[in-house]
Amino acid sequence: MSSAKAELMKYEEALEKFEVVIGLEVHIELNTKTKMFCGCANVFGDEPNTNVCPICIGLPGSLPAVNRRAIESSISIGLALGCQIAPNGRFSRKNYFYPDLAKNFQTSQYDEPIAFEGEISVEVPSGKFFTVAIERAHMEEDAGKLTHIGGNTGRIQGAEYSLVDYNRAGVPLVEIVTKPIYGGGAEAPELAAAYVRLIREMVKGLGVSDARMERGNVRCDANVSIRPHGQEKLGTRTETKNVNSLRSIERAVRYEIQRQAAILAKGGTITQETRHWHEDRGATSSGRPKSDADDYRYFPEPDLVPVQPSAEWVEELRAKLPEQPAARRKRLQLDWGFSDLEFRDVVNAGLMDPIEETVAAGAKPQAARKWWTGEIARIANAEDKEVSELSISASDVVELANLVESGKINDRMAREVLTGVLAGEGRPGQIVTDRGLEMVSDDGALLAAIDAALAKQPDVLEKIREGKLQAAGAVIGAVMQAMKGTADAARVRELIIQRAAE
Ligand SMILES: [Zn+2]
Repeated sequence: MSSAKAELMKYEEALEKFEVVIGLEVHIELNTKTKMFCGCANVFGDEPNTNVCPICIGLPGSLPAVNRRAIESSISIGLALGCQIAPNGRFSRKNYFYPDLAKNFQTSQYDEPIAFEGEISVEVPSGKFFTVAIERAHMEEDAGKLTHIGGNTGRIQGAEYSLVDYNRAGVPLVEIVTKPIYGGGAEAPELAAAYVRLIREMVKGLGVSDARMERGNVRCDANVSIRPHGQEKLGTRTETKNVNSLRSIERAVRYEIQRQAAILAKGGTITQETRHWHEDRGATSSGRPKSDADDYRYFPEPDLVPVQPSAEWVEELRAKLPEQPAARRKRLQLDWGFSDLEFRDVVNAGLMDPIEETVAAGAKPQAARKWWTGEIARIANAEDKEVSELSISASDVVELANLVESGKINDRMAREVLTGVLAGEGRPGQIVTDRGLEMVSDDGALLAAIDAALAKQPDVLEKIREGKLQAAGAVIGAVMQAMKGTADAARVRELIIQRAAE
């Protein structure tokens, strides 16, 4: 339980000495109307303990029944992952005690998952593709949510008391488990994040999950182990739990590689355990020891009939599969006319959805790309937020881009307008009016400012006549400054050159 700062080896050095093997477990919360085994509503954000019943809190004598839509969603996920669908599966009880698990067991799938043996191709930011083999995807129910009050870490250590909300207990989950992923090398952290990004796009595209990581709809446990190059035996792994942003996944994997390398290089051993990721200090800390044979005393759930999807049903669902993420990416890149590099940047910044919306709302693709990957992403980054958390809509961006394109405002003003939109001052057009940001394109006003500037730099016109056009720059600068940036610089330049020709 030590929280002392761990020693880290330099990343490059760690990769020279060790091979990295990762494994990823991703939990997807399904967006079914009701919970997995009862009729309680499956909604986020309701008053605590309002969506509960005897079944989801496991009162004696209550009997569960499987949610058909949850099975359908799970099969669709399995098919999208290229998995085989088990014609005959069942639920098991995973027994453990924890306050957020009122039943004292989790209904899950153990030896007979609904989907198994798939693979998907994952592109990392460098443009390289990796094939990730899927071991299984199985159905289970979520636990409730504990909130620890008092203390400053939000964890149970140091808390004065804890609250439990069972609204989430019994919400359907699909857990997707990869086989060990070899060969990621220096890109293993990026690969982990790119994989989760792809899974998120996939389940969103399938319509089976809201896929919002900040709400815990998609959660990742990252297994990391390292071994000296050439050694056959796998190293001891750690499992960093519930990492809930793509950036954190990448950072957590990188951190574990460096931490484990420092320990092994000193002749130490890695403890097989779960670990927690701390976003604030960019580090993992020790959780609980985890052996491969944790005894959950699994046994078949006696209250539920086996899950036996018919071949016809599976084929029906296969025929209904929507466009896969890779195909969607290809189509959007072609539609938008982005270069490979431009498009990769968009994907890796998580901006495909907002750009798609912005283009659909009427913006030119390059203008949409420019705003989302430029100023908006910069602000989100500076505020340490996801772009989706900023209060700006696709139609705001369309309006902003149109204002620039029509010459009403320039880029500098547009950035100011953007700040106003994010501060909740209203729509871009309104802010232009309110802040008096319109550009001056009236030649009379521009000429007056130009003549005033020329009076202070009388030799400029002569230089321009001699062909030194760059001399106009100083006058343009002076005019822009005098007009507080509201002048149309291109028009100012034209007018100066006209003056020189007079
Ligand atoms: Zn219930």
